[in-house]
Amino acid sequence: MRRVTRDSLIGAVFSALSGYLAWALLLETGAQPMPRSAAPSPQAAFPTSAESAPKVASYEIEAKLDTEKHRITGRETIHFVNRSSGALSELWFHLYLNAFKNDKTLFLRSPFGAGRSGDKAREYGYIDVKKLAIAGGDEDLWAQRDRHSPDDPDDETDLRVPLPSPLEPGASLDLQIEFEAQLPEIIERTGYAGSFHFVGQWFPKLARLEPNGTFAHFAFHAQSEFYADFGDYDVALDVPSGFLVGATGTRVRETRDKNRTRLSYHAENVHDFAWTAWDRFETRRETIAGTKVSVLFPPHQQRNAEAELASIRFALPHFNARYGAYPYPTLTVVHPPEAAANAGGMEYPTLITTGGPWYSTLGGGRFIDIVTVHELGHQWFYGLVASNEHDAPFLDEGINSYAEAEALEAHYGSSSVFGAFGLSVSSSALNRLISAARGADEKIAQGAADFATFRSLGAIVYSRTAIVLATLARVYGSERINHALGVYTRKFRFQHPTTTDFLGVMQSELDSRAVSALTLALSERATVDYLVREISNAPVSAAAGVFDGPQGREQKKPEAPHQAAQYSSRVVVYRHGTLQLPVEIELGFEDGTKQLRHWDGSGYTFNVDNVGPSPLVSVSVDPEQRILLDDDRSNNWLDNRGNGTPRLRDRALYTTQMLLGALGP
Ligand SMILES: [Zn+2]
Repeated sequence: MRRVTRDSLIGAVFSALSGYLAWALLLETGAQPMPRSAAPSPQAAFPTSAESAPKVASYEIEAKLDTEKHRITGRETIHFVNRSSGALSELWFHLYLNAFKNDKTLFLRSPFGAGRSGDKAREYGYIDVKKLAIAGGDEDLWAQRDRHSPDDPDDETDLRVPLPSPLEPGASLDLQIEFEAQLPEIIERTGYAGSFHFVGQWFPKLARLEPNGTFAHFAFHAQSEFYADFGDYDVALDVPSGFLVGATGTRVRETRDKNRTRLSYHAENVHDFAWTAWDRFETRRETIAGTKVSVLFPPHQQRNAEAELASIRFALPHFNARYGAYPYPTLTVVHPPEAAANAGGMEYPTLITTGGPWYSTLGGGRFIDIVTVHELGHQWFYGLVASNEHDAPFLDEGINSYAEAEALEAHYGSSSVFGAFGLSVSSSALNRLISAARGADEKIAQGAADFATFRSLGAIVYSRTAIVLATLARVYGSERINHALGVYTRKFRFQHPTTTDFLGVMQSELDSRAVSALTLALSERATVDYLVREISNAPVSAAAGVFDGPQGREQKKPEAPHQAAQYSSRVVVYRHGTLQLPVEIELGFEDGTKQLRHWDGSGYTFNVDNVGPSPLVSVSVDPEQRILLDDDRSNNWLDNRGNGTPRLRDRALYTTQMLLGALGP
């Protein structure tokens, strides 16, 4: 999900702010984007990706949507295979629509005012399972379920169902379920607004079965996203004729009967299914990099639809080359109407939602491009590698935020967030602004529900992970970091990798100092701040005093200081924090000459000494701004001549941070 869901607000404020923001960021970072790396090479040595997923839970669903009551009546068969090493005595079901059942659920009772959007429910939603039976049997297993989520009597999103007899490793069963799903008015991600319906987390779904025979199950928390097993989906949707439908997978059949239309979808190797139905959608279709792309958008938003297609034209081939080819025949892009903005900025297998008001493409900000590229990136970091977003959200949102920035900067250079009036703001600059100096707040590598607030999760999981990876790319070479990520996404396609799996690939692909910095930054709240305090210069005089040499005693008189031909100069560079990153130090001398020195970052201080004909007058640590993680840039430089006081710049930065803080994430 894109961290900013209040996109209508953002859209409105973005244009007003962007000029000021651009100015402040320009001062802060010089608006330098990531150094452009070579186009991803298809010849690079990558492991081969699996062609299909280990199928654990496959779903056949028939669903009928009542667009007046906003209710779905459904039947489903789950074909479930126990691919774990343990016999199973129970199943765990996620009924995530129950997150919107009342304001006491885990999702809605958050002290921070509901979920990510902060919006309260106006019309509630829920899901009732009417019957659950094993095919060939009559017993209603649902009657024996636990009535609420573990240790949470107010929540019904995570329910245990005992099995009548153990399911041995390798054995399978077919579960037959009848259910009714009442959609909420859209609070977040799912529901209706008028006749627009976005239908996500809407059917009884099994939690993911881990290899050791336990289910990775969790109640739906407002800060958390999803985790499920792969399978094939065959879903038949019955809607009033006149409603346009977009869904996960490929439409394989369409039949019409009186006033109703039945649409059948097929999707292989996916772990969820979402769809939308609205009687006012307009559509654009285009084949991009061999994938059939459909954009569904509200009336009068052709400009946004065109911007979304334009983003996919560059980002889909870019991600294909970086992270392995997108394996599905279709991609559906849904741009919800403004009244349903909280359904926007979300990812599902082969279907993404974007968002933004009609004027999103005006004014130099790239909101549409950012949200489209971000959600598209999730096809790899959520869809294909499918890591546990509850336990390790950075593996999805964090790495994906880096991928988003890398793709946008490869295409737009330094104006990947904003470009107008001769000013530009890059994605890296924005991520740095949101997250620098927050590295000691909380660990990146922790569970979604462990973060103090969603805003903290946004800054740390999304933006800080992105600048950790971008810093390593700038310091150790973007091609190496990008290649390592490409190895990771290919090796672990369909494999549900963990943080250990991710770091294992980084260890095999990067040098040990880069891996050590990465590990500390992810797991230990490690930070870095390089700084300088003063410059000293002493004239180097010819030797003076009394000298006893082989030729006897000699007396040399001191020269007048202004006659000195040489100066001995020193500046001490300090490193605060525990992240050791190699850094360049630029020295400027009175005669206009410059020198570049290199510190490998080890130790706490580094003495830069020089003896030369001209005094040292300025120093700049990390002049190319490779270390996006540097907590405070204003202490990275000194100028003895009193030029360029950083005050104005600091004030601009502070004010901008306050403004951004008010907006989100
Ligand atoms: Zn996201």
